[in-house]
Amino acid sequence: MRIVVLVGGVGGARFLLGVKAALGLPPVGEPTSGSGGDVGEHQVTAVVNTGDDTWMHGLRICPDLDTCMYTLGGGIDEERGWGRAGESWAVKGELAAYGAPPDWFGLGDRDIATHLVRSRMLRAGYPLSAVTEALCDRWRPGVRLLPASDDRVETHVSVDDPDSGERRAIHFQEWWVRHRAGLPAHWIGQVGAETATPAPGVAAALDEADIVLLAPSNPVVSIGSILAVEGVRDAVRATSAPVVGVSPIIAGKPLRGMADACLRAIGVPSTAEGVGRHYGGRGQGGSGLLDGWLVHTGDTAVVPGAAVRSVPLLMSDVAATAAMVEAAFDLAEVTR
Ligand code: GDP
Ligand code: CA
Repeated sequence: MRIVVLVGGVGGARFLLGVKAALGLPPVGEPTSGSGGDVGEHQVTAVVNTGDDTWMHGLRICPDLDTCMYTLGGGIDEERGWGRAGESWAVKGELAAYGAPPDWFGLGDRDIATHLVRSRMLRAGYPLSAVTEALCDRWRPGVRLLPASDDRVETHVSVDDPDSGERRAIHFQEWWVRHRAGLPAHWIGQVGAETATPAPGVAAALDEADIVLLAPSNPVVSIGSILAVEGVRDAVRATSAPVVGVSPIIAGKPLRGMADACLRAIGVPSTAEGVGRHYGGRGQGGSGLLDGWLVHTGDTAVVPGAAVRSVPLLMSDVAATAAMVEAAFDLAEVTR
């Protein structure tokens, strides 16, 4: 089976662990046939959000790519859900002693090595997709990790500046990490998306897929940023594979996060039905993306053009997540 999964960071990475388990692929930390995600008869391609990416201290930071890479490669700090296990913070302390901003973003010492390698390769002219492949030579995630685009596509948020009161756009990371999404967002959008092109392999993977999954990642700033890249949305709509999405909203709330603040900014209700309708159904002449939409047990949704099924959607451990993925495979079969 060729499986393509659209993913963000923490939620997406956990979901990918479930995809691997559902397919019987080797778990974290065990060698696979390579970084290419080609294991036996199954190939898993993750198309990863790059809208969170940013430059800090001269380093290119790709939070969602790194979260996926570390999680699938066994290097993640499991408690935090992001960054490296066994991390130390000497560089952060030294930067603070210089008063070198930003001081609100956690860059650990081990993590910095990843950003150094990436930044150096980017400056030498390699595209992000090639850099990611090189980094994955070390981590062997067992899944092919493709950035949505090699071009710079960054999520920005329009807010009222707390000091001046003036409206201005700030980078998503500043809004999310520094302000904890507490400043009301008047607008969220992807700068550069309309001139960006999908990274090499993304369109072909979607075209050749046997199944396409939308992870329960943030619909606006993870999945939304991927779909904003010119051509990606059309490629999802055009694939002959069934497309099944998984709701990140359970009982009207996002899990572990502030996705509701993002949904509010784009006028989408924070409900499983609201997000399902935002993606939209593809069947019966629908203009959306989904053939199937999974919601949590007890939630209901009507999404015209998509089959809806409710199953447990809590990624409490890998087995529970694998069961979610199997439910998505089953739903895909009935929509074929
Ligand atoms: P980020 O890039 O690190 O913010 O992570 P993602 O965008 O990939 O995932 C964040 C989303 O995952 C949030 O909107 C959560 O609602 C969702 N999420 C987290 N844990 C779970 C879970 O156990 N089940 C489901 N269905 N969604 C979850
Ligand atoms: Ca993210």
